[in-house]
Amino acid sequence: MTKPVPTPDADAVDWAAMKRDLAPVAIIDETVLVKKRSRDFFWYSPVLNAQLKRSFGDLVAQPKTKDELAQCLSVAFGHNAPVVLRGGGTGNYGQSVPLHGGLIIETLGMSRILEIGPDFVRVEAGALMADINAALKAHGREMTMFPSTQDIATIGGFVAGGSAGIGSVANGPLREPGNIREIRALSVEETPVEHVFQGEDVLRIHHAWGLNGVITEVTLRTVPTRDWISCMATFDSYADAYRAGYALANRQDIDRKLVSVVDARIAAYFPRLEGHIPKGRDLMVSLVPREQLDAFHDLIRAHGGTVALSMDDAERAAAGIPHVFEFGWNHTTLQVLKSDRSATYQQYGVNDPSDVERVAALHARLGRRAWMHHEFSRYEGAVTASDLPIIWTQDESELRSVDALYRANGCTVYDAHTYQVEGGGMKPDFRHLAVKKRMDPKGLLNPGKSRSWADVSHLSPDEIEALAR
Ligand SMILES: Cc1cc2nc3c(=O)[nH]c(=O)nc-3n(C[C@H](O)[C@H](O)[C@H](O)COP(=O)(O)OP(=O)(O)OC[C@H]3O[C@@H](n4cnc5c(N)ncnc54)[C@H](O)[C@@H]3O)c2cc1C
Repeated sequence: MTKPVPTPDADAVDWAAMKRDLAPVAIIDETVLVKKRSRDFFWYSPVLNAQLKRSFGDLVAQPKTKDELAQCLSVAFGHNAPVVLRGGGTGNYGQSVPLHGGLIIETLGMSRILEIGPDFVRVEAGALMADINAALKAHGREMTMFPSTQDIATIGGFVAGGSAGIGSVANGPLREPGNIREIRALSVEETPVEHVFQGEDVLRIHHAWGLNGVITEVTLRTVPTRDWISCMATFDSYADAYRAGYALANRQDIDRKLVSVVDARIAAYFPRLEGHIPKGRDLMVSLVPREQLDAFHDLIRAHGGTVALSMDDAERAAAGIPHVFEFGWNHTTLQVLKSDRSATYQQYGVNDPSDVERVAALHARLGRRAWMHHEFSRYEGAVTASDLPIIWTQDESELRSVDALYRANGCTVYDAHTYQVEGGGMKPDFRHLAVKKRMDPKGLLNPGKSRSWADVSHLSPDEIEALAR
């Protein structure tokens, strides 16, 4: 048993000496630019906005190679400086906000695509996902999934902070075995060491918010690319749209890679769809391979819907319509917040996604308080549904009362209003903190973002691991 690891103190760091020791790594020390790189999309949440809006880093480093990244970590180790990794800064929970100040390491300069194999791609952590998908397309492949922020978000940030996205209804979430083949990550020590995580061990780094090691490279499974057609179907009621969405998600003969169901009142906040989608109708947004469009049309008709939009990428671009996935996942929330900041959102898992009647009953009970938006995915072969509703409040007690209503109606809350990694429900035990103790013995990485670290940091990695059994 040793002493608890103290929280690193950015005020005690000699920043002038840090800057000298970081050379020749590029740095940014202009306050306004450092502050800008201390933000992410936490402002979606009124709770996080109040808690994080005054948290800023002290200095930004921009390594271009693995050696430069290792140098940054070694220097931070020597100065006991807090360290926060940053890719595109598009996380939603303040994941890349430096709660205790310190060094921000921006990975955008480490963006090489290292290897494209028959069914995999190996990339540096700072590669943008749109660039990875573009490179894969030339090989007839694409990523198993990506977030709607692919143009500005990095693969390192997605693996460290994200969970699922466009493609997950076909290929599962990131944590589905085989989707992440390998993660390489540096420890934070005097001489950082690159560790290789494969198989189940990738889950110790995935969705650990950069607390457990610094990702240098990721190897991901890829799938054949298709001639994707952007589709939008409209329905008389939310229940009809949800029922059709559930049916489409279950169809193995239609290789859909997106099935989003959006309340008509949310669709009213999509001005760029005006003239393309009839007003006041509940929506299903999808991406379907061209050769399976007939089957898709049949499915929509059978569920009482109408296909209002069906375009390939060239037609869509000519019509001035963004990617349809910008009307799904967390972009749906952004479309509303762009015109009205008095709303927020939440993340709920639907425990029995086949129970359409229960979804419809909750939709009616929520009334004007919350407007539903479901995303269908697949996990270990079974279709799953999550609801990311627009919730019309800035008041936490009202938000928690909506949470309670969802819980009472067969849903699990994956809280989007917490800046601690355990709060979202994906790190339920201590195993990832055993890895943290090995990889980051001084607790310098993203301090304050783990609720449980203070309880176990005095233990050895093996002792922490034993707590999880
Ligand atoms: C409009 C919108 C839509 C979104 N849609 C989705 C979605 O569909 N699915 C989804 O899962 N998420 C989604 N997100 C959340 C977010 O965009 C994604 O998770 C994204 O991939 C994060 O990438 P980033 O480069 O911006 O990461 P950042 O926000 O920069 O970082 C995210 C976390 O990863 C850590 N990190 C970054 N790089 C490294 C590294 N090299 N090593 C270790 N840790 C690192 C950071 O410290 C931070 O904790 C969405 C967000 C927005 C705003």
